Amino acid sequence: MSAYHLQGVRFTYGAGAPALVVPELDLAAGGVTAFCGPNGSGKTTLLHLLALLATPSAGSVRFFGELATPRRLPALRRQVSLLLQSPYLFRGSVQANVEWGLKVRGTPADTRRRAAARALERVGLVDLARRPAAQLSGGERQRVALARVLALDPRAVCLDEPTNHLDGAGREALQEVLASWVAERGVTLVLATHDTAFARRLGARVLQLAGGALRPAEPDNLIRGHVLPGEPVAFQAGRVRLAVHSLPPGTGWVHIGPRQVVLAREVQPSSARNQLEGRITAVAPLADDELLVTVDCGIPLQAVITRASWQLLHLEQGGPVVAAFKASAVEAG
Ligand code: ADP
Ligand code: MG
Repeated sequence: MSAYHLQGVRFTYGAGAPALVVPELDLAAGGVTAFCGPNGSGKTTLLHLLALLATPSAGSVRFFGELATPRRLPALRRQVSLLLQSPYLFRGSVQANVEWGLKVRGTPADTRRRAAARALERVGLVDLARRPAAQLSGGERQRVALARVLALDPRAVCLDEPTNHLDGAGREALQEVLASWVAERGVTLVLATHDTAFARRLGARVLQLAGGALRPAEPDNLIRGHVLPGEPVAFQAGRVRLAVHSLPPGTGWVHIGPRQVVLAREVQPSSARNQLEGRITAVAPLADDELLVTVDCGIPLQAVITRASWQLLHLEQGGPVVAAFKASAVEAG
């Protein structure tokens, strides 16, 4: 079953060019989808449509099969929640903030209290239930907002840049809450994020937005391993040791953008401290005369290169290659 089906959707602010053009999009119920893309690419606009806070200027949005017309919007909206980048909390206790959505819906007080307590436990904030919301840190505020959404138990949740203000531990905690929510309640998650590594770790289908249009996302090289202390810093991934710049202690995943990986025929003197010898295992065409090249060099790595450099370097599938990238290209996942 589809949670969302969009057909011929356009959204235009005022009189300008459309901020979003989506010919067709289907999001499976109980799935996790992430829209990645630079600022201004239309992520928040799309999230507003999916959170049923707005209707498109043209085309249709179906939510669990039902057409989201302006008339049906208020009723359907109760089944989906939007978690904003900087969530709004009002004065009052954490508990009152979490109960608020249920109160608006007329839920009886003890049901409300129990739901709020469960939600606060989920996000690890039980101890702060009585605290005035105004005294919380940014990360705590976000967890309260998440608990508020959890307490409502919606069918779908849209999260706008959920990891922007979180450190490594905060991201991991959020990942756990979201993953168990999907597993236990079958909630449909939609994320707008720059953080493709976070999205992939949630098992998300990642779609790229650029200039208001969707395109398939380039994969991120996500690698598991552990930081080796000492100088210079290294990251051990299986039998491969990567030169890295400082990484937070305890980092268990790193990622390397496929455009940061340069391919060569031989190890060369260069500023790239990582030069891994391997073989080309797959080649797939991308748009704009670029190729996505998969290399096995002890770890699987993908690189985006132009067709021209592929030819210039006389690369071939199955052939040898060196994948080079700077220590600074290895970022904490
Ligand atoms: P993102 O979330 O990816 O940064 P947005 O959806 O916020 O992108 O914006 C997409 C485009 O729509 C941008 O060009 C932005 O300037 C424009 N836009 C967003 N909100 C408004 C608004 N309220 N009024 C007019 N233009 C807007
Ligand atoms: Mg945005």
